[in-house]
Amino acid sequence: MHIKKQRLLTPGPTPLYPPALHAMMASDVHHRTQDFVKVQAQALSSLKEVMGTSNDVLILVSSGSGAMEASVSNFFSAGDKVIVCVAGKFGERWQEIAKAFGLNAVVLQSEYGDSVSADRVQAALKENPDAKGVFVQASETSTGAAHDIQAMAAAVKPTQALLIVDAITGLGTMPLDIDGWGIDICIGGSQKAFMIPPGLAFLSISPKAWERNATATIPRFYFDLKKEKKMVDKGEGSSWTPNTSHIIALNAALDYIKQLGMPKLVENAQLLAKATRDAAAALGLELFAKNPGSSVTAIKAPAGMDSGVIVKAFRTQFGAIIANGQGSMKGQIFRLAHLGYFDFADTFAVIAALELILHTNGHNVQLGAGVTAAQRVWAEANKPKA
Ligand SMILES: *Cc1c(COP(=O)(O)O)cnc(C)c1O
Repeated sequence: MHIKKQRLLTPGPTPLYPPALHAMMASDVHHRTQDFVKVQAQALSSLKEVMGTSNDVLILVSSGSGAMEASVSNFFSAGDKVIVCVAGKFGERWQEIAKAFGLNAVVLQSEYGDSVSADRVQAALKENPDAKGVFVQASETSTGAAHDIQAMAAAVKPTQALLIVDAITGLGTMPLDIDGWGIDICIGGSQKAFMIPPGLAFLSISPKAWERNATATIPRFYFDLKKEKKMVDKGEGSSWTPNTSHIIALNAALDYIKQLGMPKLVENAQLLAKATRDAAAALGLELFAKNPGSSVTAIKAPAGMDSGVIVKAFRTQFGAIIANGQGSMKGQIFRLAHLGYFDFADTFAVIAALELILHTNGHNVQLGAGVTAAQRVWAEANKPKA
């Protein structure tokens, strides 16, 4: 046996930023002390800065889905008509949450791998002028597809509807101008491009959404955002015991992201995604998404091969965890992540391993062809300025 380092190459959890992990060891604090309240205020202000918004931002102790639920329970009333874009497993989650809270959902469905166009959203808003909200994923992690949030926002803005974007893998992988485009609720999660473990969700809330909150009657208790905002505004910390260790870690990661600059974090994911797409093409592999985003690249397994074989070989031969397809996509595709703390060296290694796995499983690939394609992307991005 030789050394195999465990590598997380999944679109959440993602690799941890080491200084953030080290910072977590200082979590021997009490959450009602001024010291900790200051740490939390710092996290909120840094989040606003990297998300590029002047809207309120709140942090919840939950995985990303908690903020998805909160964005339904805090801004809607039972029976409200809403438009739900469904292009994969996470879009289906919107649909399930809407159903659980008694909303009347008009579903805009697309095949797995496809996206919902902004034109369809615009048409649905025209047909349903009573719609109170539009729910969508910026990046549909289950298929690797991206949505055109800017165009959707332009369609939603002049209406009474709120635009609620699950940007859990969109933040840090694509430009999202929350204030400029008019994203009413923008949701993020700690274990994605924010480089820390699962356990925190956060969301930005526009004035239009707060106005709606005043008349929204779905019952809520733990995820009461207005109550949470009051606590934050009064300088009293959080409604409940916050996840202190994660907030301390988040500050360390956000310091790094601020130093890098959010546009550079986005560009990083975009370059690694391009390197991966080019490598896939050079190896004769097909992409699953028609409009691929940069958070994760979903690649179809070669004909006659179960993608589970590739996933398993990554784990047993290289110690690396990659994602299979979810639901009916299981066995059909495998997914390689780029969001957060990934770099070119990770990407070269993943592609080299993929080539070896395909090769040893009888798929005819030229070893090195994918790596060369990825190296070209690096070379182009790092060309000395003329
Ligand atoms: C990871 C993810 C979520 C959140 O899932 P949790 O397990 O609740 O953190 C939601 N939407 C998308 C698009 C995701 O990638």
